[in-house]
Amino acid sequence: MWKTGICAALASLLVSSVYADDLQTCSDRQFSVEAPNDELLETLCHAAPRIRDTLSDCGLTQTRPLTIKVVDELSHKIGNCLAWFDCDHDSIRLTNPARYPEVIDQDSPYATLPADVLLENALTHELVHALITQSANGREVSLIDHEYIAAALELELMEPQWRDVLISAAPVSLPPKTGLIDIWIYGLEPRKFATNAWQHFSLQQNGCGLVERIVQGDETLSRSSR
Ligand SMILES: [Zn+2]
Repeated sequence: MWKTGICAALASLLVSSVYADDLQTCSDRQFSVEAPNDELLETLCHAAPRIRDTLSDCGLTQTRPLTIKVVDELSHKIGNCLAWFDCDHDSIRLTNPARYPEVIDQDSPYATLPADVLLENALTHELVHALITQSANGREVSLIDHEYIAAALELELMEPQWRDVLISAAPVSLPPKTGLIDIWIYGLEPRKFATNAWQHFSLQQNGCGLVERIVQGDETLSRSSR
């Protein structure tokens, strides 16, 4: 069984099915959406600018238009995913929430979230990757820094009741551990990685200030540089 996850930005992608030729520009013209129905189109056109504006509190800004495509299934070489950011094309791909019951393992913490909550969570995670890439303005941001920020902000922006669901499904004892901000932990225990990232981000000395320092190239959590 493939592991279901919300995946990173940095590998090639096979898309089994895209709703072709139906890209619509949102009223916020910085976003275009391709979706199988108007309700989902509207949901995404509203959610994306709202999430982007919230992320600007952490110095993440949109400098180029982004495309969001809803697909029946995503797959790439590290497993099936709920969402994907293609940094070469400023394009986010999201699995159609109508397919969640088929693509999410029943024992996954994602299975306990309502589809709209999970969709927003996946969109937030990928928007963070997109806006890190755009805000870094050509500077390389390491994979671990990317995933740390995406995991921390994905949880930070959730309603506390749903955040608690994900955190209780993958608890990590306090205080946060820098040693868990590690690409192997991310690969093997992505929800524990995320819990620890959010707990680390939540420390007073970290927060949006740390995100900005990372994106500006002044700090990294990459082990090779610690
Ligand atoms: Zn990611």
